[in-house]
Amino acid sequence: MVRTRFAPSPTGYLHIGGARTALFSWAFARRHGGKFVLRIEDTDLERSTAQSTQAILDGMAWLGLDYDEGPFYQMQRLERYHEVAEQLLRSGDAYYCYCTKEELDAMREQQRAAGLKPRYDGRWRDFKETPPPGVKPVVRLKNPQEGVVAFNDLVKGEIAVANTELDDLVLLRGDGVPTYNFGVVIDDLDMNITHVIRGDDHVNNTPRQINILKALGAPLPQYAHVPMILGADGERLSKRHGAVSVMQYREDGYLPEALINYLARLGWSHGDEEIFSREQLVEWFDLSAINRSPAKFNPEKLQWLNQQYLKNADDGRLAALARPFLEADGCDPAAAPGLPDLTSVTNLLKERVNTVAELADAAVYFYRSLDPSPELKAQHFTAEAKGAIFDLRQQLAEVEWESHAIHEAIKNCAKEHGIKLPKVAMPLRVMITGETQTPSINAVLELLGREETLKRMDQQLE
Ligand code: GLU
Repeated sequence: MVRTRFAPSPTGYLHIGGARTALFSWAFARRHGGKFVLRIEDTDLERSTAQSTQAILDGMAWLGLDYDEGPFYQMQRLERYHEVAEQLLRSGDAYYCYCTKEELDAMREQQRAAGLKPRYDGRWRDFKETPPPGVKPVVRLKNPQEGVVAFNDLVKGEIAVANTELDDLVLLRGDGVPTYNFGVVIDDLDMNITHVIRGDDHVNNTPRQINILKALGAPLPQYAHVPMILGADGERLSKRHGAVSVMQYREDGYLPEALINYLARLGWSHGDEEIFSREQLVEWFDLSAINRSPAKFNPEKLQWLNQQYLKNADDGRLAALARPFLEADGCDPAAAPGLPDLTSVTNLLKERVNTVAELADAAVYFYRSLDPSPELKAQHFTAEAKGAIFDLRQQLAEVEWESHAIHEAIKNCAKEHGIKLPKVAMPLRVMITGETQTPSINAVLELLGREETLKRMDQQLE
């Protein structure tokens, strides 16, 4: 059975790159009817925080990346790492190294001075002397000194590294906490992970991890290293490129299904399909279709996708999402008797906005009359417009309150005054909404209701 995992380090929020890795692992497990495991790699004691773990869990829940097992926490598995380290020490595949930090620094300094790449020289590998007192040893892997470590990466193809390139890596630190490479191997093994799908910033660790597995006589998983995500400038995606936190997109009013769709297309594709559902992704997902070159993050494309999803989303759902944005703006649609309900307003506006935040922004004038700026007034409330609007006010008091009839009233009024329709419609729009960009004004008025419309007109006509 296929078993994949997502193994974030809780040292920050869930970012776009991590979410994309999680999505690929999740989709691959789902595609094959397998299991998806969540493991929190919290061994970096200085940088790991509970808030960050929570942010990762929240981000995954929002994106709907459900896991079948976990979250497991590495810091709760220390005994297990110690047990395996003991096993490797006993079999002669690992050894204690008593080098102090100063000694290691001096060693590296000498190597650099000699023009060599700094690496551990194996000085404790076969050391049989009595260890120095007071030094807490680390446990190092006895890396083979000859041969080649080769594996077939499911994205990158054949990868081979000579063992002479690898030094004896630390498995357990002096304080008993495992290094990333050791923890990850033991966990992937114990959790029966069949496919390790992760960012290709880890590809250089893989030969080391394979050597640990070999020393344990354990089977190897398959590896798929996914290329990085870059910003538009070709640099690795970071805060400099705008929002990179998944939850920031929620706060900015993106729909999770839009972000999922976008993330799926970042480095993977299924023909020319641009818009597809989570179910289609699961049906189509295939590691061999992952691009070998890095993907570029394009916020405009994401926004475009979000707009496509907004258009087709349920009005009630969008209204519920928009409500907190309005409330934060001091606008409570529920406490506005006689004014239109937010679901109908959503229906009118959703095709015109890119995000839920924009939707809420655009909905404000339904719940609060916004005084137009003096510039807008000067531009649109001309003497001729005023005359026409004054008459329109009388007609609107009597017309059947329905979009088409309202439109006819506006049209007639313009005709009677010998001016073009926009010369009436625009001042009307400005006095009702305070803005120049809205859906057709007759549709806005229909929704707003006669009473509120006349009230606002009167306020502006004073
Ligand atoms: N904790 C590692 C990271 O966040 C996981 C790498 C892996 O998936 O093996 O980069």
